[in-house]
Amino acid sequence: MTPEEIKQIRLNHPDNLMARHFDERYFDSLSGDLQARLIRIIKTGINNPDSQMGAYAMAPDDYDLFKPYLNLLICDYHGIEGEVQHQSDWSQPQTLDLQDIDPSLKNTSMRVRVGRNLEDFPLPGAMTQADRVSFEDQMVEVFQGLMSKPGYGGSYVSLTPGSAHEISPEKYQELVAEHKMFKDMSVDPYLQTAGISRHWPYGRGMYVSDDEQLIIWVGEEDQLRIMAMKKGSVLNEVFDRLHQCLEVLEAGGIKFAVSPVYGAVTSCPTNLGTGMRASLHLPLPQLTAQGSNVEQLKPMAASLGLSVRGAGGEHTAAGTDGVVDISPKARLQVTEAQICQQLFDGVKALWAKEKASV
Ligand code: ADP
Ligand code: MG
Repeated sequence: MTPEEIKQIRLNHPDNLMARHFDERYFDSLSGDLQARLIRIIKTGINNPDSQMGAYAMAPDDYDLFKPYLNLLICDYHGIEGEVQHQSDWSQPQTLDLQDIDPSLKNTSMRVRVGRNLEDFPLPGAMTQADRVSFEDQMVEVFQGLMSKPGYGGSYVSLTPGSAHEISPEKYQELVAEHKMFKDMSVDPYLQTAGISRHWPYGRGMYVSDDEQLIIWVGEEDQLRIMAMKKGSVLNEVFDRLHQCLEVLEAGGIKFAVSPVYGAVTSCPTNLGTGMRASLHLPLPQLTAQGSNVEQLKPMAASLGLSVRGAGGEHTAAGTDGVVDISPKARLQVTEAQICQQLFDGVKALWAKEKASV
């Protein structure tokens, strides 16, 4: 990597935030060791010039250590002016029931997840294969503790070859199709260059509660993706369940990596803060032209602070009848309770537009 290469990327790909904010004087002011660390963080954005962010953290303290540079990318992406000071607050004062928007939404698929990493390990981009397997082993012990708690009982499945919990490739595909397990990450060029998908499928797995509403992914983009999922209409139910699960895990001795400034530390700077993505699977046949044109919905959703994904998650197509995945974009300098409210308000506005265009 030469600063000249990054200058070229800035010229040809003005949306690449890694290149947009790269400052040669700052880079030169760092020691050789720190320069090497920083290059590793931005390698994904150099090798994939079409990246939007172009950086993945590799160690829990990267965001605080490289703040003079990474803070510029973070503020630019999250639209923050002035100082970042993230605060958490889960207490949603109101009951937010989708049936108040429309009775037909009473059986909506609701999902809310947070990305979390532990203090004691490198972030996924820098984990060795031994790190991944030993992290998984530690989590299996934690899950054994969870199993005896009322409401938390469940089972663990692993993709690690030879694991006592290993499942067949067919079973894995079934779980992906059911929206429970994560997709094969080794095909994603951004994750690959960052080293995040390395050693696939070692150290990858998932804990599922008996009622299948609580899921904990092990070894995806973050060491842990913890989520509550349910078909229903009261948004508070999935948020509260996730919050309780995080408290139980912490009370059991897990120490999540947290930055005093940025909140939850995640591999990707886009997820910092809450680490949260709260989504609904919503049928929007008019706004997506029967699901054939998800792109046409994106600008309108963006104006409401919402992101749109396909029915199988990021980089997938809409489902039958134009079912898409709608979630608030905000993650940082916003509370969990505000995200819950933004999801409700955003969906209410989007639903009105869908009905107006019938
Ligand atoms: P994330 O990055 O938040 O984990 P992805 O876009 O990678 O989300 O999707 C992960 C999986 O979660 C996919 O199978 C996707 O279909 C599923 N999913 C997302 N939102 C919902 C929802 N509201 N209901 C059911 N499944 C969902
Ligand atoms: Mg994802």
